[in-house]
Amino acid sequence: MVELKTNESIDAMREAGRVVAQALTAVREAAGVGVSLLELDEIAHAVLREAGASSPFLGYHPHFAPVPFPAVLCASVNDAIVHGVPTSYRLRDGDLLSADFGAHLGGWAGDSAISFTVGTPRPEDVRLIETAERALEAGISAAVVGNRIGDIAHAIGTVCRKAGYGIPEDFGGHGIGRSMHEDPGVPNEGRPGRGMPLRHGMVIAIEPMVIAGGGDGYHAAPDGWTLRTDDGSRAAHAEHTVAITEEGPRILTAL
Ligand code: MG
Ligand code: MG
Repeated sequence: MVELKTNESIDAMREAGRVVAQALTAVREAAGVGVSLLELDEIAHAVLREAGASSPFLGYHPHFAPVPFPAVLCASVNDAIVHGVPTSYRLRDGDLLSADFGAHLGGWAGDSAISFTVGTPRPEDVRLIETAERALEAGISAAVVGNRIGDIAHAIGTVCRKAGYGIPEDFGGHGIGRSMHEDPGVPNEGRPGRGMPLRHGMVIAIEPMVIAGGGDGYHAAPDGWTLRTDDGSRAAHAEHTVAITEEGPRILTAL
C-alpha cells in the first residue's frame, strides 16, 4: 500500500534527507587514496550521531541476507554494484566508489547514493558515473503528477541503455517514508504509461545502477551482501529521495 505524505511530513523527511547529504559529503571529502572503507563508515556514523539520527542500514536483515548489515554505510568498490560491506580495504588510485547511505530522523527515513573516483580517474569511469547521474536526473524529471511509475523507469532505462550499459535485474528504487523501503517499487527499466499513477505526496527513492560491461548479471560476494558484476566490469550507482508534488519533484536528499 502506498502512503501519501502530507506537506508537513515531506518537510520532516527533508530534515532526514539533509543528514544523509551531509554524511555522503563528508564521506566523499574523506575518501582519498589509502583511506579504508571502515574509516569512511566511522565518518558517516559520526554525522548521524551529531544529528541525533539513527541508521536504517545497521542491523538491517532482509530475507536474502545471511547476516544483518554490519555498518551504517554501503561502500561498493569497482565491480561491486551496491550493498558493499565496509572492510579494512584501503582505497587505491583510480578506484570507483559507490557510497549508499540512509538516516532515520524524527521518525522519517532518507536514502541517497553517490559514485565517484579516488585519485586519478579513468575516463571510462567518469562516463559511467555521469551516465548514472544523468539517468537519475531523467528519472527525477519524470517524477511528476500525472505520470506513472513506468515513465520514471523508462526514462532511467533509456539513458542507461543508450550509453551501452547493463542494468542489474531485479534491483531498483522504492517508496520511502517512516520505513526505508515502502511501496511502490520503482524499476530502473520499464514501459512508459504503465504502472501506478504518480500522486502528490508520494515519496520515492530513485536509484539507477549501471554496469560498464553491458551485461545485467550480478552475484553476491562471499560476505552475502556485496553484489558484484558477473563480467567483472565496474558499476556506478546514484540515488536521491524525491517527493512528488503538485509543484514538481522535490529532492529531499540534497545538501
Ligand atoms: Mg540507498
Ligand atoms: Mg534505496
